Amino acid sequence: MVRSARKTTSLIDFVILATLVPIVASASTAWGQAAAGALEAKIDRLATEVVPQTVAWRRDIHQHPELSNREVRTAGVVADHLRRLGLEVRTQVAHTGVVAVLRGGKPGPVVALRADMDALPVTEALDLPFASQVKAEYNGRQVGVMHACGHDVHTAVLMAVAQVLSQVREELPGTVKFLFQPAEEGAPKGEQGGAELMIREGVLENPSPEVIFALHVNPNYPAGTLAYRPGATMANQDSLRIVVHGRQTHGAVPWAGTDPIVVASQIVLGLQTIVSRQVDLPLAPAVITIGSIHGGVRSNIIPDEVEMVGTIRTFEPRMRTDIFDRIRKTAALIAQSGSAEADVSIEPGYPVTFNDPNLAARMVPTLDTVVGKGRVVVMPPSTGAEDFSYYQQKIPGLYFFLGVTPNSADPQQAPMLHSPRFFADESALVIGIRSMVHLTIAYLQK
Ligand SMILES: [Zn+2]
Ligand SMILES: [Zn+2]
Repeated sequence: MVRSARKTTSLIDFVILATLVPIVASASTAWGQAAAGALEAKIDRLATEVVPQTVAWRRDIHQHPELSNREVRTAGVVADHLRRLGLEVRTQVAHTGVVAVLRGGKPGPVVALRADMDALPVTEALDLPFASQVKAEYNGRQVGVMHACGHDVHTAVLMAVAQVLSQVREELPGTVKFLFQPAEEGAPKGEQGGAELMIREGVLENPSPEVIFALHVNPNYPAGTLAYRPGATMANQDSLRIVVHGRQTHGAVPWAGTDPIVVASQIVLGLQTIVSRQVDLPLAPAVITIGSIHGGVRSNIIPDEVEMVGTIRTFEPRMRTDIFDRIRKTAALIAQSGSAEADVSIEPGYPVTFNDPNLAARMVPTLDTVVGKGRVVVMPPSTGAEDFSYYQQKIPGLYFFLGVTPNSADPQQAPMLHSPRFFADESALVIGIRSMVHLTIAYLQK
């Protein structure tokens, strides 16, 4: 909250800057040393040429955000573009996903590139000319919809990558598979979706990619930089639900029942001592968050029950199961002390996003040539989570971050992903395009 508030004035500067400074010009200043080789030089030129169109795609998708498993319009825009490029296109994969295959003119391996397409139930707070006004129903409630995680950027960048690689098709030694994925943020209640469903529907077969690459925007890094981490990069994410059962009574007569609100409050505080007091923190980070508490309908009724939901983030398998045990014990014994009962359920979520260390070591020199050495940062582990991890369980993958905070601003103060004030500097688009194209060509030419 404090971070967003402090940001407000300088965000206006970003917007003005983004509008006034020609995007291609500002992007080209961020380029590193020119990549060697005729093909590399050609794709840098093609990447520059596709930037204005990429900005238009990105703004169009930003203005028309769609929630997870509802990316119908976005998928249509993507599929039309890929068909015009002459790719083999498959639609309605894992509900609204689009998969396309580009076969190069020379034999070689298969590389997969992935972009996620879904937006979030967030009401946009930025005054951009292409800001979202969209509202939709989410789990039974009317919500604003916004690309607050930057998946509009990922989709537009991968559309541009498909175009650039199509333009050098004859020179490509291998095949490129484009995965435009729905529901990275999680399918709505009662539905399946995302990377796990894409894999079940066969996206890693016919043809089978050897490796997979993806990028994600990151406001913690300035535009013109990239960040990655070999090994465990993002956390294992598990969902937590606790229902505290008490006994309903009049608010003026608490002793006649059992108050689940007070017990739930004690459980929330008790859970916070697990990470801070009970686990071996130098071994690996961990987070337990209760993000929602519901109980009661009015001031003078103590309700029968309270429901809490939250998230658990871990990096280390033994620590993960230990934390599960401690959550169950803490909730049960606190509830018992208040004559209530607590039902704890833990749903396993996205696995650890794990960058294959050999693949990372091999590909990072390519990223160095894209932005210049010293502009590719090795980042600390992130407690965020990503369903890209499911692909990485099947084949080696590299997931890296694209800095998107304007150079005039402090990335440490920038509104985070999922913030209604999240802002991506469009000068980063060309870096995203060049990163993905160069990684693909470098791997195919191995
Ligand atoms: Zn997100
Ligand atoms: Zn995201």
